Amino acid sequence: MSPAVIDVPSRSAAVPGVVGADLRVPLVTGGTAAYANLDHAASAPCSSAVRDAVDELLPHYASVHRGAGFASQVCTRVYEGARQVLSDFTGARQGDQVVFTRNTTDALNLLASAAPRGTSVVAFDTAHHAALLPWRHVRRIPAPQSPTEAVQALDEALAECPEGPRLAVLTGACNVTGELWRVAELARAARRRGARTVLDAAQLAPHRPIRLAELDVDYAALSGHKLYAPFGSGALVGRADWLNAADPHLAGGGASRAVTERAVSWTTGPERHEAGSPNTVGVHALATACRTLTTRWGDVVAHESALLSRLRAGLVEVPGLRELSLFGSEHDRVGVVSFTLDGQDPGLIAAALSAEHAIGVRDGLFCAHLGTRHLLTKAGADSGRALRASIGLGTTTEHVDRLVAALKSLVADGP
Ligand code: PLP
Repeated sequence: MSPAVIDVPSRSAAVPGVVGADLRVPLVTGGTAAYANLDHAASAPCSSAVRDAVDELLPHYASVHRGAGFASQVCTRVYEGARQVLSDFTGARQGDQVVFTRNTTDALNLLASAAPRGTSVVAFDTAHHAALLPWRHVRRIPAPQSPTEAVQALDEALAECPEGPRLAVLTGACNVTGELWRVAELARAARRRGARTVLDAAQLAPHRPIRLAELDVDYAALSGHKLYAPFGSGALVGRADWLNAADPHLAGGGASRAVTERAVSWTTGPERHEAGSPNTVGVHALATACRTLTTRWGDVVAHESALLSRLRAGLVEVPGLRELSLFGSEHDRVGVVSFTLDGQDPGLIAAALSAEHAIGVRDGLFCAHLGTRHLLTKAGADSGRALRASIGLGTTTEHVDRLVAALKSLVADGP
């Protein structure tokens, strides 16, 4: 089975290779309209490369690892081969493990239970809940004003940790503002304080290559559904020692080496944390999505950067619009923009965008309550929530222009 590629066109055209790009949805005013999905940061649409790869695998659908039959052998090869794809995709070191999980949340919870008892964990308030909440005890670092202040604050927080294992939780790209964090500098600061690092790469992985070894980051967590694969597959990639020493994330078949009336011995390696029949189709989809992106990074970045610039230039013209930003409007970011509109309820605006304009955005606090509240205060917004538009390979110039025009008309006439 050979990986197909997403055919990314010149900027602004519709993107072939995105399933559902021609979706039409009902309008409240009657009739239907082409759907403008501006919610890629929540979940990206599936790519046709992934769909084709899944179609190809389905006739071989069988249990992995434990079956002697041909179909089982195919599935086992596909499943185990996917580990190398994920290892390459994340730029992992020799000896790093790839454990398949349900998603980023599951991957970070796995690491939280695998970290040695007494590990001091530090995380920024701006982290997504998936990265902020799994730890038994976490020292929270207030939202920094600049990347330099972030490094300093991390250093200070780690300096105050007691002796023993330490772990710093880093975010690759913010799911609220799209801003890129300076992961290499933060990882260096953590290393100087004897801390390991884990990168929440959920939002970074669809937009930029990840190089764990180069960044000297110890672990990365990501989700397939943000990478143009369906829901239900993700991975934790990183150092093997904590993972091999920890209790299994799930106890059951596959994780156990031998079971007697008196004792159980557990395997080492990724299977230790993958008990039960795994999501072979999902893992194959995830690996295909990773391979596909790897072949097209230049096109992905060019396509998204052009659309992001257009989106931000358009939003500036919407009266009363406040863009949320941690490090300032010039800071490098992926295609995620959150904003408020003075005097407007974000929930009503989001509903009107959907019902009247066939535009899908998100509103709320984006599973980052502390960070988003901070950003709202910083922007001087009193809406209590925000709107988020996010772009990806399924986005076109027409989607961006339609959003800007719709916002202008909703601001002028009310939702
Ligand atoms: N981290 C970030 C930055 C995210 O944006 C998300 C999802 O929106 C997550 C973690 C959690 O991902 P999942 O819901 O796939 O576990």
